Amino acid sequence: MNRSINLTDDLLDYIHRVGTREHPVLAQCREQTATIGWQAIMQISAEQGAFMAMLVRLIGARHTLEIGTFTGYSALAVALALPHDGRLVACDIDPDMMKRARRHWENAGVADKIDAKVGPAIDSLQTLIDGADGNPLFDFAFIDADKTNYDSYYEYCLKLVRVGGLIAIDNVLWSGSVIDPDDTSDDTVALRLLNNKIAEDDRVDIALVPIGDGVTLCRKR
Ligand code: SAM
Ligand code: CA
Repeated sequence: MNRSINLTDDLLDYIHRVGTREHPVLAQCREQTATIGWQAIMQISAEQGAFMAMLVRLIGARHTLEIGTFTGYSALAVALALPHDGRLVACDIDPDMMKRARRHWENAGVADKIDAKVGPAIDSLQTLIDGADGNPLFDFAFIDADKTNYDSYYEYCLKLVRVGGLIAIDNVLWSGSVIDPDDTSDDTVALRLLNNKIAEDDRVDIALVPIGDGVTLCRKR
């Protein structure tokens, strides 16, 4: 089979049954987030959480960064995969969401691994750069906040992630609209331009993985 399979609801249930081991607090986070309304679709899927946790384990990540935390699911998936001395810096502009997220992290016993930065992510990233003295601080970064700033987040991550480290960029297919020339909305244009830029960017090895809404993995050369 030379193309990714179409996922029916039944097949997705099957994947969740035999292909993921969702921690009970991750399941609880998903259930509670589902009650908050349309925004719940912003959360990554269980299989994407399992995939990201696997990546973190495979590269032996200890220092990780997240840009766009929401109710804390992806941060929790990563934090649970970190060794006991591993750390995650989680950035989100919304203090209420960060409070919700922290409750889940506390329930799962990983809150002390997570340093939450509340405010515009650009400011938090600039503060990290200012304190880093030119040294890369992270093994793994996940970009999942406002799409029009993705290019800036990508450039910050290239400075903050070590050689051989991984930058995972979420929603790169944007429900397929990146290939719709009639879609000229700001978010779509930003994602399309970044996808085109990364395709030619010799600073990274890449794989665009068709999981969720599309995740581009960039390994820093
Ligand atoms: N990664 C989360 C998960 O899978 O559960 C979902 C993140 S959600 C798609 C995007 C988040 O980015 C929202 O919680 C929003 O508050 C945050 N956000 C939007 N603009 C931001 C900005 N300028 N700086 C920091 N966070 C921002
Ligand atoms: Ca996302």
